[in-house]
Amino acid sequence: MSNNLEQFASDNYSGICPEALEYMLRANQGSAPAYGNDEWTQKATDYFRELFEIDCEVFFTFNGTAANSLSLAALCQSYHSVICHETSHIETDECGAPEFASNGSKLLLAKGENGKLTPQSIDSIVTKRADIHYPKPKVISITQATESGTLYSIDELLEIKAVAETHKLKIHMDGARFANAVAALNKSPAEITWKSGVDVLCFCGTKNGMALGEAILFFNKNLAEDFDYRCKQAGQLASKMRFISAPWLGLLETGAWLKNARHANQCAEYLENKLLNIAGVQIMFPREANAVFAKLPEPVIHSLKAKNWQFYTFIGMGGVRLMCSWNTTKTRIDQLISDIETAIA
Ligand SMILES: *Cc1c(COP(=O)(O)O)cnc(C)c1O
Repeated sequence: MSNNLEQFASDNYSGICPEALEYMLRANQGSAPAYGNDEWTQKATDYFRELFEIDCEVFFTFNGTAANSLSLAALCQSYHSVICHETSHIETDECGAPEFASNGSKLLLAKGENGKLTPQSIDSIVTKRADIHYPKPKVISITQATESGTLYSIDELLEIKAVAETHKLKIHMDGARFANAVAALNKSPAEITWKSGVDVLCFCGTKNGMALGEAILFFNKNLAEDFDYRCKQAGQLASKMRFISAPWLGLLETGAWLKNARHANQCAEYLENKLLNIAGVQIMFPREANAVFAKLPEPVIHSLKAKNWQFYTFIGMGGVRLMCSWNTTKTRIDQLISDIETAIA
């Protein structure tokens, strides 16, 4: 069996990075207490607190859908609503899990260029109605980096924080590509989360190089009350928790989380620059993290698919998403570029 996919489909097509794997093997020596009562989980939790410069509550889940939907459910009653971008993962890719986990909290969809919510788009949804018949807005959910591969700057985050404060809204951050955002913005994790008003962060380990596992960080500890029970009830309490927390520690302690993210971002930048040199190719969104969105002529897309290149085309006619990860190589990018040039010629 060959795993040699010609892939730019997603960062979760990649395998486990060496650091995460090594710590997983280390955690496999002998036995350890179950359900998170082990040293690896304690150490990883403490490391998150150090990294984010705050005494936060930390939880681990198997995947991002659970992290998002359970943390949103912790912030909402069933009659509340969550304001998110119309292209957000919680709306388009979680099969209704946020509504399910919260017993019905409604997602209210906002528009905004480049996959980003704006203070105006949030404000107009909140102020549209104030009566008892409208699901009461309670949370703003932002994705960093966004589903369009763009980033919220500190200034943009602070503007959103101001709207949140005006309307007494909590802020949830879907950090499926949080590491890529930290690497690209060159700001500290604290600066782009709780210092910018974020109450809860879902920090994805899977896309950063782990086999599986997300960390949920509650910067506002009160919001985490009984969250461990919510995870357990949802089937998200890993009994051998150390195999999620040890690779997390591996990523954090060795700096691999940032190294992997920087590498992926640099690969995307390299890919973008190559694409910009090809007549007939258009870049669709500003390339700011590890994804390049490009418009290609349909015959070119067919030709690439025929050569077994893997990528997503959910962005509409001619749009392709090319995602880079910790194991993307320049050689692979050059091969893809060469195949695009051949197909266009
Ligand atoms: C990948 C991803 C997730 C998590 O998805 P799972 O498949 O549930 O792990 C969440 N949000 C965004 C924006 C993603 O890209």
